[in-house]
Amino acid sequence: MKLQVNERAVLNLIETGIATSQIQLARTLGVQPGSVNNMLKRLEKTGLVYRDRIHRYGRGRPMVHFRTKRTGPILVIMWTDTHWTSGVFVDDAPRGAIQQVESKPSANLSEVLDHLREVRDLALAQSGLRVSDLAVTVLNIDAVLTEHGRILTSSVNPWLQQASVKDFSDALDCKVRFDLRIPSIIPELRARVNEGVRSLAVVVVDSGVSAHGARLDPQWGAEVFYRGELGHVVVDPSGRVCGCGHRGCLETVLSGPSLVRRVEADVRAGTQSSLATFVGEPPEKLFNELERLSKLGTDAYADTLVEDILDRVAWSVSLVTNLIGPDVVVLSGYGLAGRDSWRERILQKARPLTWGGEPEASRLEFPRLKSEDYFCELARTADRFTPQD
Ligand SMILES: [Zn+2]
Repeated sequence: MKLQVNERAVLNLIETGIATSQIQLARTLGVQPGSVNNMLKRLEKTGLVYRDRIHRYGRGRPMVHFRTKRTGPILVIMWTDTHWTSGVFVDDAPRGAIQQVESKPSANLSEVLDHLREVRDLALAQSGLRVSDLAVTVLNIDAVLTEHGRILTSSVNPWLQQASVKDFSDALDCKVRFDLRIPSIIPELRARVNEGVRSLAVVVVDSGVSAHGARLDPQWGAEVFYRGELGHVVVDPSGRVCGCGHRGCLETVLSGPSLVRRVEADVRAGTQSSLATFVGEPPEKLFNELERLSKLGTDAYADTLVEDILDRVAWSVSLVTNLIGPDVVVLSGYGLAGRDSWRERILQKARPLTWGGEPEASRLEFPRLKSEDYFCELARTADRFTPQD
């Protein structure tokens, strides 16, 4: 189908997520909604766009949001810590079951590339497709692209430093694109839109520490992302060197691995605590035990540690609230998600640090969705926001 200039503009706005509903498109292009309606009908008929979701904003009419259709099959791999999720998507729907694999922490780039080939082959076997059928492989990992999108860097995976996008394409025999958005933020915001929530921040404590924010503007449909590098705010200039190269970042005192290191060092120095038996265990288990012990209140060392963690988290929450003022702050990552007995304490500690006494109790929440939901949303929008050659 030969597209007219206006139709190309509509397609481009939908594809990039800048405007995805009829009214948003009309306002962005400065034309009457009726003319956009005709274009949308034509694009829908030819299969280039389809109806994606409906949102209700207050008492107004429900707003239908559109999405563009993709051409070839894509392989999507999402990797967090030791958890790998992969799947092949054709026309934005999964082909075959989505695969979830656990691995040991990777020590170097070649181990990671081995894991990637494994999860690629698992997903391909499920889909009945071959590598040569794929249009592109999209990778979502905890990293940042530098040098015009060619070189990777990561504070939690230091050996990723200086790896190039090409290394990954070569290893996977397929064109690789990195989509480095935080996959949880938009789905968590959308999960609350019908309750009137318009902005949200996700504070994450796991192998790293971060806080990302997004805001929904019903008029323009723009979802504004904040950079989110809370973990690299320096809190102790004479502290330990962080994976980012600076000294004493928040991540060096609050992340899972940093707490494991702290317990190990204290136990070696003679500290008495039942946490000694957790040395060498994954950080998530340490957090579970800390929460359990903090409820019992029988282990003074664990109590001190928890007090420190909650102080840091409360400071983070107040910082995000003072800077962004989101409707909801979601406590996420294995360090925080679902730890109900800590939520109220974080709130108490955050209140005196937050302008106007916010955040309110109901506004400090846990994630409502699962990583598979994040994955599906990521797959459907993958690589559209970060164009790379
Ligand atoms: Zn840092």
